[in-house]
Amino acid sequence: MTERGVSDKLGRPLRDLRISVTDRCNFRCTYCMPKEVFGHEYQFMERAELLTFEEIERLSRIFVSHGVGKVRLTGGEPLIRRDVDRLVEMLARIPEISDLAITTNASLLASKAQRLKEAGLRRVTVSLDALDDETFSAINDVGFPVARVLEGIEEAAQVGLGPVKINCVVKRGVNEHAVLDLAHHFRGTGHIVRFIEYMDVGTSNGWRLDDVVPAREIVTKIQAEMPIEPVGKNYTGEVAERYRYADGSGEIGIIASVTQPFCQACTRARLSADGKLFTCLFASIGHDLRALLRNGTSDEEIHDEIGRIWGRRDDRYSEIRSSQTESLPRVEMSYIGG
Ligand code: SAM
Ligand code: SF4
Ligand code: SF4
Repeated sequence: MTERGVSDKLGRPLRDLRISVTDRCNFRCTYCMPKEVFGHEYQFMERAELLTFEEIERLSRIFVSHGVGKVRLTGGEPLIRRDVDRLVEMLARIPEISDLAITTNASLLASKAQRLKEAGLRRVTVSLDALDDETFSAINDVGFPVARVLEGIEEAAQVGLGPVKINCVVKRGVNEHAVLDLAHHFRGTGHIVRFIEYMDVGTSNGWRLDDVVPAREIVTKIQAEMPIEPVGKNYTGEVAERYRYADGSGEIGIIASVTQPFCQACTRARLSADGKLFTCLFASIGHDLRALLRNGTSDEEIHDEIGRIWGRRDDRYSEIRSSQTESLPRVEMSYIGG
C-alpha cells in the first residue's frame, strides 16, 4: 500500500472523494428529491446499512493512499447525520487530507458551525437557489425561509469557515431572477456565489434540456449590470469557471456541467452512504466496498480493489450526453451526493 497515484483509462488521477453520509434530507427540492417520489412511503436506508464513522475513516485512509487529498461530506443533508462533527474530527486527523469540506442546505448550520470548526472542518459550501421566500419555498418545498440560510452562512463565516461558497442551481422559468439577486447580495461580502447548470442527474426530476440556463447566458446577464472579467483556474481540475468583478468587489463562479463539460479533468470518486463507490455522477452501478469492509478483507486488498476499479474507469458522461444517454438508468443525486 505504498504508491500514491493510480490513473484511470483516460489518464485521470484519483484526487477527490465525496462521501454521502446519509440519503435523508429535511428539504424536498423539486429538482433533487421531489415529494411525489420521496414521500412517506419512500424507503430510506436503515441505520445498519449506513457506513459507520469508523468504516468511513478506514476507507478514507485507503483512498488517501491512492492520492486523494480533498474530501467533501455531502448527502442527502449531511448535517442531519447524528454526530457528524465526530466524523469530521476523525477525518481531520488524517494529515494527507488537506481540504475537508461539507456541502449543506445550511438549515442546521447556524447551530453547528462552531462545533464543526473546532472538529477541524476547513470550509462549507451552502446551497441557496433564491433570495426571496416565495421562490425558495417553492424550490425547497418545505417552506424553509431564506433568512435562516443566511444566518447559517454568517455564522459559518464568523467561526472561520469562510469565505463560504454559495451554490445556486439555475432552472429556466423557476429562479432565473435569483442570478442577479444573489450576485448583488453577496458582492463585496467575500463569499463566492457559484451558478450551476441544472443537470440530468437521477431519473425523478423530469429533466429537459430546455430547463437548462446555459452558462453563457448567466454570464451575459451579470455582465450587463456588473462588469466581470474571467480569472484563471485555482488548480487543474477546478470545475468552476471563475470571474471577478471589474471593480474588485469579489468573485463568482459558473459551473457549466451541461454546456461545457469538464470530464477530462474529473478526478472525483463518490461514496454513497451505504458504501458503494461510483466513478461518475451519472453512473448506474456502484462498487460495493461495504461488503469488503464487513467480510474481513484487509486494507491492502481493498486498496488494490479500488485501484482496479479506478484503473478501469472511462466515464465521461457529460461529454457524450445525447439522446442515447437520456434513457440510461442513473442513481439519484440524494443517494450519490452532489
Ligand atoms: N443537501 C446538501 C445541499 O443541498 O447542499 C448536499 C447534497 S445536494 C445533493 C448537493 C448539491 O447538488 C446541491 O448544491 C444541489 O443544489 C445540487 N443538485 C441537486 N440536484 C441537482 C441537479 N439536478 N442539477 C444540478 N445540481 C443539483
Ligand atoms: Fe436535500 Fe440538498 Fe437535495 Fe435539496 S439539494 S433535496 S437540500 S439533498
Ligand atoms: Fe466526472 Fe462523470 Fe461529471 Fe464527467 S459526467 S465530470 S466523468 S462525474
